[in-house]
Amino acid sequence: FVNNVDEFYKFCEENDVKFVDLRFTDIKGAWHHLTYLLSALDKDMLTNGLPFDGSSIEAWQPINKSDMLLKPDIETAFLDPFTADPTVIVFCDVFDIYKGQLYEKCPRSIAKKALKYLEESGVGDVAYFGPENEFFIFDDVQIKDEINESYYRVDSEEGEWNDPSRNDDFGNIGHRPRTKGGYFPVAPTDSMVDLRAEMMQVLEEVGLEVVLGHHEVAQAQGEIGVKFGTLVEAADNVQKYKYVVRMVAHLNGKTATFMPKPLFGDNGNGMHVHQSIWKDGKNLFYKEGEYGNLSETARHYMGGVLKHAKAVAAFTNATTNSYKRLIPGFEAPSILTYSSQNRSASIRIPYGAGEKATRIETRFPDSSACPYLAFTALLLAGIDGIKNKYEPVGPMDIDLFELSLDEIREKGIQQMPHTLREAVESLIQDNEFLKPVMTDTFLNTYKDYKFETQIWPDESRPTAFEF
Ligand code: GLN
Ligand code: MG
Ligand code: MG
Ligand code: MG
Repeated sequence: FVNNVDEFYKFCEENDVKFVDLRFTDIKGAWHHLTYLLSALDKDMLTNGLPFDGSSIEAWQPINKSDMLLKPDIETAFLDPFTADPTVIVFCDVFDIYKGQLYEKCPRSIAKKALKYLEESGVGDVAYFGPENEFFIFDDVQIKDEINESYYRVDSEEGEWNDPSRNDDFGNIGHRPRTKGGYFPVAPTDSMVDLRAEMMQVLEEVGLEVVLGHHEVAQAQGEIGVKFGTLVEAADNVQKYKYVVRMVAHLNGKTATFMPKPLFGDNGNGMHVHQSIWKDGKNLFYKEGEYGNLSETARHYMGGVLKHAKAVAAFTNATTNSYKRLIPGFEAPSILTYSSQNRSASIRIPYGAGEKATRIETRFPDSSACPYLAFTALLLAGIDGIKNKYEPVGPMDIDLFELSLDEIREKGIQQMPHTLREAVESLIQDNEFLKPVMTDTFLNTYKDYKFETQIWPDESRPTAFEF
């Protein structure tokens, strides 16, 4: 791993690198790349930036102002574990040559601005983020059948989900996890041991610190735990993680998906986000003896996240499918409150974590989010909470999945949005807290993009269930 351009060239020489793969992230979180021959890149280009067509990336530039620059962040360089020829990948920021500054619609640049804002606001020096990205592994050829099958499942008379793995007509169920039966029997029921091991090793190769891997609760679901990082590092790591998980699955004839709710009736894929803010080497979220050992700062941070959650969801739960995960009964939250140990609340406080590890776990986000934008929105909501001393609703230590709709209504308990439309409409109403970092142009683009590419197309389509 390198610190400057000279070290970069040395690194390339040592590893016999032929190609330099420049990568940047669009507003929906997709990674894009273009590949230069190392011999064609001089120091100047690496420092000042390289041109690309900004009009061909969704929701970015108009055709008559399409010249943009990619600015390599050279210390992020790492070897691509999947290419036949040695190739080094470099994260890039997008530079707006018309305005002479980082591009206002570049998520990675927005995330950098958010960290700067944290410092300038005096709230803290650094924010740590620890995302947990869950995924499903399907056989390439089976994915359509699995998903179609799940469309047509219905509630049985007992109110239980009809479980095809318990259905005689479904065929051989030997050594297959049942619905919600994946957490976590040993092999051969867990058939993904070697696949996850391969993923974990490749993740280490690309510079992530892997902690553990395990089967998750749903059938064919997995998770790999990696170490937290600062906001930008953690988001960079999500991009690497998704790339590695998808590629290792692909090379094994499988398909990995981070889709929030691929299968009706079984758990979905979350991206829980652990967070803490530090100042002068101290964890500002820790106060011994308080509920969950949480400081006032942590409480106000949660107050901000919960108050703005419906708007934040437009970034953290970024697809129409996201909201099919946020229903009671599947370890994904819908009630806006916090609680220690409680996996039915929107924010869980991991129990007994100690001074350094005390943190909050926001459980509603999923991997359909652009990680840079999701972490930025969470941080800005939290900072707003700290500044305005918002008290979070809670703690609520009961099983929140048991609450009836009447109780929720009578007690005025707030819930996550139920649709992407509700989230984006909340964002239109509630966005002042984002403005220190996100421009009006960016927010407008984001809103329009969500309506045009997802909300309207989804609302206009009859579904299999409706038939
Ligand atoms: N898959 C669950 C979710 O959707 C989480 C389950 C877990 O991590 N224990 O958030
Ligand atoms: Mg986990
Ligand atoms: Mg999990
Ligand atoms: Mg978790």
